[in-house]
Amino acid sequence: MGKRKKTVVITGGAGFLGSHLCDRFVGEGMKVFCVDNLITGNINNIRHLLKGPGFRLIRHDISKELRLTGPVDYVLHFASPASPVDYLNYPIPTLKVGALGSHITLGIAKLKKARYLLASTSEVYGDPQVHPQKETYWGHVNPIGPRGVYDEAKRFAEAITMAYHRYHRVDTRIVRIFNTYGPRMRINDGRVVPNFIHQAMHNKPLTVYGRGTQTRSFCYYSDLVEGIFRLLQSGVTTPVNIGNPDEFTILEFARLVISLSDTKSKIVFKPLPTDDPKQRRPDITLARKYLGWVPRVKLKDGLKTTIEWFAGQGKI
Ligand code: UDP
Repeated sequence: MGKRKKTVVITGGAGFLGSHLCDRFVGEGMKVFCVDNLITGNINNIRHLLKGPGFRLIRHDISKELRLTGPVDYVLHFASPASPVDYLNYPIPTLKVGALGSHITLGIAKLKKARYLLASTSEVYGDPQVHPQKETYWGHVNPIGPRGVYDEAKRFAEAITMAYHRYHRVDTRIVRIFNTYGPRMRINDGRVVPNFIHQAMHNKPLTVYGRGTQTRSFCYYSDLVEGIFRLLQSGVTTPVNIGNPDEFTILEFARLVISLSDTKSKIVFKPLPTDDPKQRRPDITLARKYLGWVPRVKLKDGLKTTIEWFAGQGKI
């Protein structure tokens, strides 16, 4: 008898990051259970995996109980609406999947004695008053603003993950994911990367919110997946930032998208959304030290590939 394949449960596995993780774990020879209710995920992201023997899609809302038969070695909780526009459209599902979904997935990890990894976010730092953001910073979050449904759900998710770790001895990991981009983002998810690419493709003005002086640091998906994979294999049980520390203003970013696209688009300024963080950049000292991880893909290169991918999607 051959050795049993390791089994990993990935919630949100049909989403942007989740589906890239499914690819990675299938590629590592593991059996993948992808749990997704497809409210913001897309079956096209995983269609190529559906016929493979090591992959199964379970269409399910992970805010509700899920019984799985057989052993599970890893549980990765990635299900959640993840763009400001999506969590405005789905405020209650966002709260539920962060809170109830974390409870349910931790319960699965506890029952199966599996290692658990929570997808947390730089949003736990809110509109940060410390720059760059280290994992020791407690954040500056408006609990009742429109972004609060995501920020507070993820903060709760971190709290319950640490509680299961301390009280039930579940073997847990927490990744705080900073802005990430790449193929399989939804063109209409409202985030700055697909918005600007879509606008440039159609020669429409790029909509810079506010004066465009707010900053973000963009990580290519392949770097992020590598960081998450290393964190899962590591022994680090406290939160770890994974993101790219190269910081750009949104206006610089708009100009970069225009310069890399064959477009006549100009820039227009629109009102800044409520509680939009003014600056964001990860301090990745921990990831560098404990995971030996640094991002490799430069924004210009990752953006070129992403623009080509969107262009290859037909009429969007
Ligand atoms: N943004 C923008 N124009 C757009 C979409 C977003 O100027 O069409 C800005 C947004 O206000 C924010 C930044 O780009 O400052 C990143 O926004 P995104 O929605 O990608 O995610 P966030 O980092 O705010 O969670």
